[in-house]
Amino acid sequence: MNILLLGSGGREHALAWKLAQSRLLSRTEDKFYAAPGNPGIAQHATCVALDTADHGAVIAFCDEHRIGLVVVGPEAPLVDGLADSLRAEGISVFGPSKAAAQLEGSKGFTKDLCERAGIPTAGYVRTASLAEATGALDRFAAPYVLKADGLAAGKGVVIAQTREEAETALADMFGGQFGAAGAEVVIEEFLEGEEASFFALTDGATILPCGTAQDHKRVGDGDTGPNTGGMGAYSPAKVLSPTLHGEVLKRIIAPTVRAMADEGMPYSGVLYAGLMLTEDGPKLIEYNARFGDPECQVLMMRMQSDLGELMLACAENRLGTCDPVQRSPRTALTVVMAANGYPATPEKGGTIDLADAEAGGAKVFHAGTRHSGDALVANGGRVLNVTAMGDSVTEAQAAAYAAVDAIDFPSGFCRRDIGWREMERERKGG
Ligand code: AMP
Repeated sequence: MNILLLGSGGREHALAWKLAQSRLLSRTEDKFYAAPGNPGIAQHATCVALDTADHGAVIAFCDEHRIGLVVVGPEAPLVDGLADSLRAEGISVFGPSKAAAQLEGSKGFTKDLCERAGIPTAGYVRTASLAEATGALDRFAAPYVLKADGLAAGKGVVIAQTREEAETALADMFGGQFGAAGAEVVIEEFLEGEEASFFALTDGATILPCGTAQDHKRVGDGDTGPNTGGMGAYSPAKVLSPTLHGEVLKRIIAPTVRAMADEGMPYSGVLYAGLMLTEDGPKLIEYNARFGDPECQVLMMRMQSDLGELMLACAENRLGTCDPVQRSPRTALTVVMAANGYPATPEKGGTIDLADAEAGGAKVFHAGTRHSGDALVANGGRVLNVTAMGDSVTEAQAAAYAAVDAIDFPSGFCRRDIGWREMERERKGG
């Protein structure tokens, strides 16, 4: 069949790499397209220019190229209802409807759903009024967790250490700092614990867990400096023991999928839960309606099942006919190489030489790269995702950094401690 993948980041390169191995694309006449793609994705798919905000253009492309499955990588087109537009034309799509994507698109929606369905999460207040939000701070203690309700490119969460800081942050949010995303805010109880991510494929009825991961949001070693889209990740997150994994599935994921179906918004696609492992058990921090970036890169490295078959089964509401998602028991770890200046002012145009990068078995996923003549150059904040496998995080990390060291990218940098938390546990024999 013909497949169209939407997106241009490291996440989509990992999806493209895995999809290219699918039985769905095994015949010579099977065509694989990506829009807009990147130089890494172009190793597997024909990259085309398509504006995903123009649903009519995407539909026309699908008709013209007889696309049997559309895979939507990023959240914005989902929250914007692209999956609905495609489904209305009879086109199979991997990704939730606009209504179901509210799980990512509106933090208030998710908190209210958790309350209705009894899903463990932080206590909260949701409001569209600055005065009410400021007053509601009385019901919480520092540090204050303040969230713009809508999509804010991962920047809509403020953790304020003092009441004064919280009041300023609320005034900024209601003052338009995050545009329409801040028209409503959620104030939350601060949760303490270790964070982990849980991913499940679902067609709205059947749920197939497809891996766990931990990421590193801060730009600097030792988790210092500003927040980023993610500087590295590893999978599995062993901190989610089999018992905790079962608990997350039973108390968080399953009741969410059930509630969404019961309320007439069946969720189809990948459901990505950001969790806090608290003393009182796992609690939901947030949902995302797509794979994480760079978590997707480590999940794809470990996935042994046919990704294309699973995605098509989700799209066609027959995930119940699929076997559980097979995953390598080994660890995958990815290191993000970013352009100097990231996250504030990444330097564009720096040259990259990947000639020796994959010699030791690592896989380099492209994020922000482009061709300039014969050269590969940086074209974004996060540029490469250097990904390797090992029998432990320690081993996977060594393999990933060996590949990083074989890459010539003078205007780039990376963290040197991806996986540190788990490596400490491995050193202690835990
Ligand atoms: P979110 O975009 O909702 O994932 O929030 C971004 C980050 O803020 C999370 O990854 C956590 O590190 C932190 N965070 C969000 N909500 C809470 C909370 N209720 N308590 C503590 N930290 C939180």
